[in-house]
Amino acid sequence: MHAPPAGGPPLPDPISPSPSAGAPGPDPVRDPWRAPMERALAEAERAALAGDVPVGAVVLGPDGALLATGHNEREATGDPTAHAEVLALRRAAGRLGEWRLAGCTLVVTLEPCVMCAGALVQSRVDRLVFGALDEKAGAVGSLWDLVRDRRLNHRPEVVHGVLAEECAGLLTRFFRDR
Ligand SMILES: [Zn+2]
Repeated sequence: MHAPPAGGPPLPDPISPSPSAGAPGPDPVRDPWRAPMERALAEAERAALAGDVPVGAVVLGPDGALLATGHNEREATGDPTAHAEVLALRRAAGRLGEWRLAGCTLVVTLEPCVMCAGALVQSRVDRLVFGALDEKAGAVGSLWDLVRDRRLNHRPEVVHGVLAEECAGLLTRFFRDR
């Protein structure tokens, strides 16, 4: 007499590699922003040289040309508002000769905080591009989402996750080595 095979339901097929494994394919949403994010990363490295948390930002004009750059300068200047985004937005407005940055794009290595999310909404930029998430203080999806709050009448487009690993890695190394 043959006993039926022990065990419950048949085993599932061996797990096949996920389609996302291996080299990432083209990403039409994020790829166009890699070059300006590289520029923002270079700014972030300048912040670290002065002992500031490495966050960098650039503002691109409506034609995509570089308008302004900024990096965190809180330690360097003793100014609590000297975040990369605020400095880049101020410089871009100075260059354009007006506070409205319509048509412009703010590219920053880290998810903006509440102050910077407020500043970028006030500046009327068309688009925010950021790299790493800031799960402790982020105001563009992590803790709050000020930029896409439907009660506001200006809501920039948001692209996140551009070179996210590079952006986060810079911060991780900074805090590890200090
Ligand atoms: Zn900030």
